[in-house]
Amino acid sequence: MSLSTSRIWVALGSNLGDRESHLLQGFQNIVDLPSCSNLVRSSIYETSPMGPSEQPDYLNAVCAFDSHLEPLALLSELKRIERQHGRIQATQRWSARPLDLDILLYAEQLINVPELTIPHVGIAHRSFVLWPMAELDDQLQIPSLGAVAELMKHCERYGIKRYSSGAGSTSA
Ligand code: AMP
Repeated sequence: MSLSTSRIWVALGSNLGDRESHLLQGFQNIVDLPSCSNLVRSSIYETSPMGPSEQPDYLNAVCAFDSHLEPLALLSELKRIERQHGRIQATQRWSARPLDLDILLYAEQLINVPELTIPHVGIAHRSFVLWPMAELDDQLQIPSLGAVAELMKHCERYGIKRYSSGAGSTSA
């Protein structure tokens, strides 16, 4: 019996240490998850920080892949990867971090439990998520929010620039 997979979108962000290495290694860590296939990734973008501004700029990117990991199991794997990159659970919201991983979409699912909200609450207001998502799929529909192209029209692009390209698939 084969398990069915879901298309999952994850956002990556880093503003501490060797930011590009954290993102590139982060893609590879996701590829190496027990159930992950067909990963595609966006270019890397540089973005001004949200919240406290006395911290370095972020590098941000997104990826999409197929997996049969359940949402909470996936969240726990992503937290393990964040810890592997030296992330300490911060007390201050939006504080600097070597690697931040957020689940943006889990197929068409709407999830609202204490540990997990999907689609991610920030999608509609975050240019550093919308632009890379549209780079991978400009026809993408976000459950309960609508077309990514439409959301981009209402989201300020300020503070985001392309840092490096290299979009494509990452192999195991
Ligand atoms: P952050 O500081 O961005 O890493 O988020 C901290 C907490 O947000 C995590 O411990 C998760 O339990 C919670 N969370 C809620 N929704 C999501 C999501 N879609 N992706 C990742 N974390 C989430």
